[in-house]
Amino acid sequence: MELKLSDYKTDVHNDWCPGCGDFGIVNAIQMALAEMNIKRDKAAIFSGIGCSGKTSHFINVYGVHTLHGRVLTFAQGAKIANPEMTIVAVGGDGDGLGIGAGHFVAAGRRDVDMTYIIFDNGVYGLTKGQASPTLRLGEKTKSLPKPNTNYNVNPIGLAVASGFTFVARGYSYDVRHLKDLIKAAIQHKGLAFLDVLQPCPTYNDINTRDWFAGIDLVKEAQERHSRIYKLEDYKYDPVVHYNEEAELNEKLSQALIKSLEWGNKIPIGIFYKNEIISRYGERLADKIPNYFENPPAQQKISKHGKPITNVSKLLDSLEV
Ligand code: SF4
Repeated sequence: MELKLSDYKTDVHNDWCPGCGDFGIVNAIQMALAEMNIKRDKAAIFSGIGCSGKTSHFINVYGVHTLHGRVLTFAQGAKIANPEMTIVAVGGDGDGLGIGAGHFVAAGRRDVDMTYIIFDNGVYGLTKGQASPTLRLGEKTKSLPKPNTNYNVNPIGLAVASGFTFVARGYSYDVRHLKDLIKAAIQHKGLAFLDVLQPCPTYNDINTRDWFAGIDLVKEAQERHSRIYKLEDYKYDPVVHYNEEAELNEKLSQALIKSLEWGNKIPIGIFYKNEIISRYGERLADKIPNYFENPPAQQKISKHGKPITNVSKLLDSLEV
C-alpha cells in the first residue's frame, strides 16, 4: 500500500518555539520517508536529548528517545541487530559533538549503514541557550553573559576525518532540498552524516534566518545575496569513483577545504560520498555466517521461558 505524507505524522503535541528550524527538519524526514514509501514497521527514529530529542515523538514509525550523547550507540545496535530496518538517528550539536563526540568518531570508523542528522544551532536550546560546540569563538548570543571562550567544532570536517562515507549539510528552511539530502543519505550504503543548519530564534540571535538569507549584507556590500549556496550548482563532485588512493585523497581534501567555508558563503549539499569501501554489514557477515539470513533480531530468544540466544559471537566480533 502506498503511504501518504500524513501517515508519517503523529498527534503528539509539539511545543517547540514558533519559528524553530526543527519543524523543517521533521517535515523533511517525513517527506523523505513518504517519497521512498518506507513501511512504518521497517523504520525507526532514534533521538538524543535536547529540543531535537522530541523528533522521535513526531514521526509515525518506531521511535526511541535515548540518552544524552548516546543516540548513536542505540541506533547502531538496532541496525546491527536488524539490518533490514531503515535507521535514522537525530540529535543536537551539543548532544552529538559535545558529550557524544567520542561516539561520533567511533561510529565513523565503523560505518554502519544508517543516517545521523545533527540539528546544528550553536546553542543548548533546551537548557536556556548555553554555548554549544558549534558556536564560534568570540560570539555572544543573547543568552550568553560573555562572548564564547571556546573554538568551535567543524562537524563536516570531523565527520570526514572520522570515516563517515556520506557527509552533507542541509538548511532547515530549505525543506525540499533537505528532503532530497535525507533521501540520498538513507539510500547511501554506509554511515551517512547530515549537518543541518537549524536557526534557534529563541536563543541564537546571530545565526538567524535573516542572517543566513544575507539581509545584513545589503548594508555592507550594497547587494543582497543569501549566505547559503548549493554545492551542486557549482559542479562540485563529492563522489569517489575509483578505488584509487589518489582520487580518495583528492575527494577527502576537497571536502575538508569546503568544510572550512563560513561567513559570507556557506555551502550546503553533499561534501563527500564513498560507496567503494567495504561495508560494515559485509565485514560482520565475513565473521558471522548467516548474519544477514538470520540476524540477531530474527533469532528466538527463549525456549520454555529460558534464554537461548547466544550473542557472544557478535560481541566478540565488535571487539576493537
Ligand atoms: Fe527550537 Fe531553540 Fe526553541 Fe529549542 S529553544 S525549540 S531549538 S527555538
